[in-house]
Amino acid sequence: MALTGLQIQKLLPKTNCKECGSNTCLAFAMKLAAKKAELSECPDASEEAKRILGAAAEPPVRGISLGPDRALKLGEETVLYRHEKTFVNQTALAVNISDADSPDAINATLTCVKDYRLERVGELLTIDMVSVTQAGSDVAAFAALAKKAFEQTAKPLVLRSTDPAALAEAAAVVKGSGSLLCSATKGIAKPLVDVAKESGHALAVSAPNLDELAALAAEIKAGGFNDLVLDLQTFSPAERFQTSSIARAAALKAGCKPLGYPTVCFISASNPVDDAVAAANEIAKYGSVCVLPTFDPAALATLMTLRLNIYTDPQKPIQVEPKVYPVGEPTRESPVFVTTNFSLTYFIVSGEIENSGISAWLVVPECEGMSVLTAWAAGKFSGASIGKFCKEIELDRQVDSRRIVIPGYVAQISGELEENMPGWDILVGPQEAADLESFIKAKVA
Ligand code: SF4
Repeated sequence: MALTGLQIQKLLPKTNCKECGSNTCLAFAMKLAAKKAELSECPDASEEAKRILGAAAEPPVRGISLGPDRALKLGEETVLYRHEKTFVNQTALAVNISDADSPDAINATLTCVKDYRLERVGELLTIDMVSVTQAGSDVAAFAALAKKAFEQTAKPLVLRSTDPAALAEAAAVVKGSGSLLCSATKGIAKPLVDVAKESGHALAVSAPNLDELAALAAEIKAGGFNDLVLDLQTFSPAERFQTSSIARAAALKAGCKPLGYPTVCFISASNPVDDAVAAANEIAKYGSVCVLPTFDPAALATLMTLRLNIYTDPQKPIQVEPKVYPVGEPTRESPVFVTTNFSLTYFIVSGEIENSGISAWLVVPECEGMSVLTAWAAGKFSGASIGKFCKEIELDRQVDSRRIVIPGYVAQISGELEENMPGWDILVGPQEAADLESFIKAKVA
């Protein structure tokens, strides 16, 4: 748990020597508590202070890295609610295949998983993992399926079986893939920990309730293995929501280390809509790996968009680079539009211009990723700032058109923009981007 400034001060030398750049040890402690300084800046910090502050600085939910290159990060969360700060590592989405599926169905799913791409606000979204479930009892067939899934997709796997021997064999054939073995219960934990250690995979642990789960995780950690993921045993969306929330709150608010691990969930509702709702619940509260039962592009598009919204840092809006963007294949005479560099705004406006069937230039000045009204209120989207930007990029030399369309919400800047862009006609566009198409057809095209 995070320490307060006063708690940290008690660990410092209390000589007020100023070597760290602060006037007093208390002032330095306050900076440490606010994460605006590093303990290494105090040359006299004791070993005990380093140990205690080092442990306190660890995120309450342990970070786990998966994948052959360890690029898929789970956990490291520090807040219960996104608006407190930000969520750190987004829920990894996996699609399940099983040794009971037909070879054609398996090949089709693996191809879909490998090729899936969804572009949204400039971000390329892909499926993170493949889950391989053992439904039968053929150990060799399960291992062969795991091998095939990894070779075909190069994605880390979720290997799921109740048979430790099957998990051991599958884990060995995809050694180095940085996968997740599911799941160790009390009776089979010891051999599975050895398998996970030997093959470099993470291990999910499972128990009937949170007390037993915490005890099992603590026991495995005490034995020297800490790449753990929690597989909560729940039987309804309501129970899942409640149990996940209790586990996360225990880790974050009560410092319960044995529950401070990422989680995995296998979605298995009775129909596609309930599956999507259960997966949305995982993305919102607090799933780290969410295994979808089938490849369903409609559900994936919804879930990926939800995930993008929840895991975007609210303090750092997604931005596009400030510059002039061609929409379609504009010529020097094509009309010019202006909007802000908030990604969502940019993509909506450029999409609506494209929908109208014309080609145009879209001027996007630096607005710190704010939307139109917010940027205007903050003084970042004024007639003066837009005019200055157009001068800097030499818009006059790039286009022969002398008419620029501004968003209807900032009609009040048209006079100021006219002063700052002599020779240009300022046309006030609609307030909503959705009305751009009809506006363009009536007044621009
Ligand atoms: Fe205190 Fe260390 Fe800073 Fe000196 S360098 S004032 S001992 S915190």
